Amino acid sequence: MRKLVCVLLLANFCWLSPSFAQHCATDLYLQQQIQINPDLILKRAEIERFTQKWIAENSARLSSRQVITIPVVVHVVWNTPFENISDMQIQSQIDVLNRDYRALNVEIPSVPAIFKPAIADVGIEFCLASRDPQGNPTNGITRTKTNVLQFSPIRSICYADRGGQDAWDTRQYLNIWVGDISTSFLGEASFPGMDIPEEDGIRIHFEGFGTIGTAGAPPYNLGRTVTHEIGHYFNLYHVWGQNINDPACEYDDEVNDTPRQSSTFRNECPVHPQVFCGTASMFMNFMNYTNDACMAMFTKGQKMRMLAALNGPRAGLLNSLGCQPLVSAVEEPAFVKDIRLFQNPVNEEIKLQSVSGLNEKILVSLVNTQGKVLFTDKWQETIAFVKDISAVPSGIYFLILQNETNIFTKKVIITH
Ligand code: ZN
Ligand code: CA
Repeated sequence: MRKLVCVLLLANFCWLSPSFAQHCATDLYLQQQIQINPDLILKRAEIERFTQKWIAENSARLSSRQVITIPVVVHVVWNTPFENISDMQIQSQIDVLNRDYRALNVEIPSVPAIFKPAIADVGIEFCLASRDPQGNPTNGITRTKTNVLQFSPIRSICYADRGGQDAWDTRQYLNIWVGDISTSFLGEASFPGMDIPEEDGIRIHFEGFGTIGTAGAPPYNLGRTVTHEIGHYFNLYHVWGQNINDPACEYDDEVNDTPRQSSTFRNECPVHPQVFCGTASMFMNFMNYTNDACMAMFTKGQKMRMLAALNGPRAGLLNSLGCQPLVSAVEEPAFVKDIRLFQNPVNEEIKLQSVSGLNEKILVSLVNTQGKVLFTDKWQETIAFVKDISAVPSGIYFLILQNETNIFTKKVIITH
């Protein structure tokens, strides 16, 4: 761990340039926190001991089919309307995560044969929270207008009294802040054990979040900044280890099935093989700085580190109710069991069908995430309810069904 301390801050600043010369400020953040609080070295060493022990004792988990769902809250902190990214852009990022952490991304077949056996289905999925820390329904998105043009230091975005947005309980939710965090960095994560609950989570530049809207331009337009930062959040290091200036290949990432390398592959899309440290580098690993389009995989060793974090310092996420829809916690009203919603996401029309034939009057409403009612219609004496929503903008909405005694809310996604 001594080596970890002597990484020069200067080396990090050398990468700065106006065009995201750097993917990630996570190492810099860790070094700065260690300078403020040297005990953090001991805390990180303790977590590393736990991690290695957990991995040694839980090798069976590698083949387990268990899928863990992580509740996510996205805090959009915007100054110009352009930065106030759409619900759909946020959903596009969640979709990327749910492919990358399940090895369902399109790049998997192009992974070089020597690395294919190491590919991991990490078995982690992500949901936008459906209930907030107070137990109220939510779409998992907060929106804050700020007067701050750019957040410096980056983590000032995590504080309402500095123009940002306060975290939701960081034991129960993965907090993702999206805003203008820097001219130089695309993202930053908190490693487990940093013990600053107000800042625990990841911070992402709005140009590196999702696959549409403000993230429109290569090479950071495929949502991989977030895939990478969440790797750090689950205790992964960069593949090259903890020192970027390491031509002697002294440092590694504490993962056996990622070969040592002395390049970051920053802004590159290399052709295999790239030989460093006497072996072919896994440049397509998500924990490199390779262009978004040229990243492809986590390894089994990385998966085990992430699962160790989820069974140790990040265990609060396993018991979170954040992804549980509110209605399933209480009894779903009887009238709702009789109703089917065709298709979700919805394209051009919302179609509901009563299985038994409707024998009561139901009010059907559609509400957007700001609470604005887009329509309220009566549904009575027909088997099906059909509503043309082609004029409703794409986004996340709530469909509200109400009879004389009960009310039921369902999240629907509209895409055109
Ligand atoms: Zn990083
Ligand atoms: Ca390694």
